[in-house]
Amino acid sequence: MRGLMMDAPLLISSLIRFAAQNHATTEIVSRSVEGPIHRYTYADAYGRICRLARALGRLGVTEGDRVATLAWNGYRHFELYFGVSGIGAVCHTINPRLFHDQIEYVVNHAEDKYVFLDLTFVPLLEKLAPVLKPVKGYVIMTDAGHMPETTLPGALCYETLLEAEVDTFEWPEFDENTASSLCYTSGTTGHPKGALYSHRSTLLHTFSICSADSLGLNCEDAMLPAVPMFHVNAWGIPYCCAMVGAKLVLPGPNYEGEAIYELLDGEQVTKTAGVPTIWLMLLDYMKKNGKKLPHLDSTVIGGSAVPRSMIEAFQDDFGVQVFHAWGMTEMSPVGTTGRLKGHMRNLPKEKRQDIQLKQGRGIYGVEMKIVDDDGAELPRDGKAFGELMVRGPWVASEYYKDDEGTKASFTGDGWFGTGDVSTLDEDGFMQIVDRSKDVIKSGGEWISSIDLENTAVGHPDIAEAAVIGVPHPKWDERPILVVVPVEGKEPAPDDIVAFLKDKVANWWLPDDVVFVDEIPHTATGKISKMQLRERLKDYKLPDQ
Ligand code: AMP
Repeated sequence: MRGLMMDAPLLISSLIRFAAQNHATTEIVSRSVEGPIHRYTYADAYGRICRLARALGRLGVTEGDRVATLAWNGYRHFELYFGVSGIGAVCHTINPRLFHDQIEYVVNHAEDKYVFLDLTFVPLLEKLAPVLKPVKGYVIMTDAGHMPETTLPGALCYETLLEAEVDTFEWPEFDENTASSLCYTSGTTGHPKGALYSHRSTLLHTFSICSADSLGLNCEDAMLPAVPMFHVNAWGIPYCCAMVGAKLVLPGPNYEGEAIYELLDGEQVTKTAGVPTIWLMLLDYMKKNGKKLPHLDSTVIGGSAVPRSMIEAFQDDFGVQVFHAWGMTEMSPVGTTGRLKGHMRNLPKEKRQDIQLKQGRGIYGVEMKIVDDDGAELPRDGKAFGELMVRGPWVASEYYKDDEGTKASFTGDGWFGTGDVSTLDEDGFMQIVDRSKDVIKSGGEWISSIDLENTAVGHPDIAEAAVIGVPHPKWDERPILVVVPVEGKEPAPDDIVAFLKDKVANWWLPDDVVFVDEIPHTATGKISKMQLRERLKDYKLPDQ
């Protein structure tokens, strides 16, 4: 027997329509690429999104067409999220930090029909335009007064396009499984791979991460996503803000500590989210300048593991609750969030922090299990570790036009292999031990490079640390610690090893400490172990 409820499709256009009707006067504040702070309301945004939908139609964009963006977190990018997907086209957000040949690859692979770009990226696309064959035109996201002289073929001005339209639109209804947006992951090997989200997966993910155990977002909040809108849709936060009518604060191109602080403070932001690197810059700025953030309740931190020193600084020094989260581009991205359970409330601080260091609990909608090399499920005891497998309605079922045989990550029985090695405990908390490619095997046992790195950055003279395994004749591999010292400091290797001594197992202690000026990062800000290994390929252990 079928239920007798309306079969209303879950569509992205419904989010912004809802926000405009019910939170018309709530603000969206952006640091613009041109410079000044821009502010308007959900009602204003909605009118302009309607104009954009019409303009796209006039440009010949139809259902299923891919429209790319190369843009910072700003109100025009926000409009594209809703306007492009709303008409049934696919919003392909390009990460400008990809290498040039990767940008060429993703535009051609996605067959983008138009590219919308911020002023910042005009020179980059002028260089690449000759090889971006499928692109029919470029729209520069600025007004007529700021339009640059450009060699981009048929460059159009965003504001001029919108001015020519009216601010109402009849949003089309279509199957909720229609593709809505496309994000490429910059894996460590091979070409970037595309995760193609649908309206349904996006809406379900949005419902879930707005909820109290995740972002816990509501209409009283002001939210600043310090994670770029070109990386997994800023973790889905623009959709969340529209769903609950929260004020949205978009930091534009500037992620420096001072710039983010100014917005967090000035706009009375209550919740924020970002990767550890961004928060290091903010904490450093606040400490040096004696600043506080009385309005900020919490920050969700993910993308890389959160070091203990960061949890302590936010919570103890600044009264900001930290929630550790984990996810992947292939998961829209959120898979876990780290709100502690009721029975953990009265644990000693140290023990609570131990749990906060874990990557969080699986949220409803994401099923997780860990498996050994043969695919057999391992116990959820917080000790056994193996590859983390996931499945659920906002997890990719395959990559977009996958021509590289990467289907290996998708097991025939409906699970996705994350490539992360982790434990799961009785409370459902997951802890990443390593990326499967980065874990160090020493004497038949595993050493977690992530654990060592995070312990090392607790040293006051270490700005950033990375651990890689190097070949060893007896132990197979041994860890070395690669360190960027804090400016002006010269910590001694022995002093660093002594600092680690009571914090990690003895046989985990690095065999050497190597000082460098800079550690290489991937396009999404993670430490690039592949590049680091390449740079240190001639390195020899001191006793070899
Ligand atoms: P991306 O698809 O670029 O978002 O990268 C996803 C990968 O980032 C995951 O598979 C993890 O290896 C890593 N990652 C994400 N969140 C965390 C976290 N909280 N701790 C450690 N690694 C993380």
